[in-house]
Amino acid sequence: MDLKSLIRDIPDFPQPGIVFRDITTLLSHPEGLRYTVDQLTEKCAALAPDYIVGMESRGFLFGVPLAYQLGIGFVPVRKPKKLPGPVFAVEYQLEYGSDRLEMHQDAMSSGSRVLIIDDLIATGGTAQATVQLVEKAGCEVVGFAFVIELVGLAGRKHLPDVPIVTLLQYE
Ligand code: AMP
Repeated sequence: MDLKSLIRDIPDFPQPGIVFRDITTLLSHPEGLRYTVDQLTEKCAALAPDYIVGMESRGFLFGVPLAYQLGIGFVPVRKPKKLPGPVFAVEYQLEYGSDRLEMHQDAMSSGSRVLIIDDLIATGGTAQATVQLVEKAGCEVVGFAFVIELVGLAGRKHLPDVPIVTLLQYE
């Protein structure tokens, strides 16, 4: 399946100079959505995670079906002040701007194996911040999954030395 043809490129969004890789066109395509989740499942199963941790908001869209397929739980990482219980928090840099991420302190028991997922890795700042949250919880990152990798930004060099599953690469 030609997944790249299902991703829409929007130039100069959300600001001049950024080409936004829009996955909504992939999500609304029945075979494309099924193929994406099936590919993620096939490539991530061997990492044997206990939890999928996904970042707001597009990490949720792929993380929940992946967790369902693997028969494990999903833990959301959210923007500030969205989670009702006590949270761990970290500041992070985005390709455009900076922000803060939070995760429930009691979401996972310490020592759990975690696979981190997002729709796209650009600079790697969001994934790096999520690693810090997972480590604050006393858990182990055993892998990453991204539907899209912006290879030119070399985000993966900021990540720990564990398997990184990506389905599509862009310069
Ligand atoms: P980064 O922290 O730089 O790796 O950025 C990754 C996060 O920002 C992901 O949650 C992406 O959804 C979003 N993002 C960054 N750059 C783009 C882009 N060019 N197109 C779509 N989403 C992007």
